[in-house]
Amino acid sequence: MIFTDSHCHLDFDEFSGHLPELLFNCVTSGIHRIIVPSTAPDNWSKVIRLCRQHCSGENQAPRLLACLGIHPWFLSGLTQQHLEQLTTLSQQHSKDIVAIGETGIDKVIAEKEDNLAQQRSFFEYQLQLAKDCHLPVIVHHRRSHHEIIPLLKQNKSPYGGIIHAFSGSYQEAKTYIDLGFKLGIGGTISYDRAVKTINTVKRLPLSAMVLETDAPSMPLAGFQGQSNSPLKLVNVFNCLTQIRQEPAEVIAKEIESNINALFQLP
Ligand SMILES: [Zn+2]
Repeated sequence: MIFTDSHCHLDFDEFSGHLPELLFNCVTSGIHRIIVPSTAPDNWSKVIRLCRQHCSGENQAPRLLACLGIHPWFLSGLTQQHLEQLTTLSQQHSKDIVAIGETGIDKVIAEKEDNLAQQRSFFEYQLQLAKDCHLPVIVHHRRSHHEIIPLLKQNKSPYGGIIHAFSGSYQEAKTYIDLGFKLGIGGTISYDRAVKTINTVKRLPLSAMVLETDAPSMPLAGFQGQSNSPLKLVNVFNCLTQIRQEPAEVIAKEIESNINALFQLP
């Protein structure tokens, strides 16, 4: 079986000391592609460079695929000018990027930094940019389905995207699926207490799911306090096979074809 990590911050410092070895271990674990979202203007060029070095999936490394975007955690000090830079860079690198993201709305940060209006406007801008670039969008959420869903409805796109690290009810999941989105299934399902999300994942069609780690964030149950790794994608997959009725091979194959369809990959 082969897998794609649809969300991993491989450019972060946590990985820089041992990246070649980590990438080699990914390949031997069957992880043949990793989608690398960017988070802020600071890391755009690093993400592009890293993914260019590994765009072929040769030299004992997975194929790395870049995204450009601005994460709702990193809006402080950013202006319209940064959004315009993002547009220019996305056009320049249209051959290098597979999505816009990550973007979205985080209600916890919005309350702490009092920046909900800015989060909304940066999110809407990036939804439009994704549409203009004919690309899917990677969406970050935290306590914000009620903020995100209306904006996705107002800015419908034929290119869809991923609701990254999905957690929520079946009804919320269904709403996203009807809007053309896939749900990023990650470490959340390794926690027994995530009853609502696990029950949702049990009922969803396989055609709506992709796998992710969000490494170095979101450690799985049993690994709290440690930095997460893309190698844990296999653990996420094993949790999913426990929840679902279908044979593991069927699940793996369907999820790979979801990735191919969404990112227009062969
Ligand atoms: Zn992320």
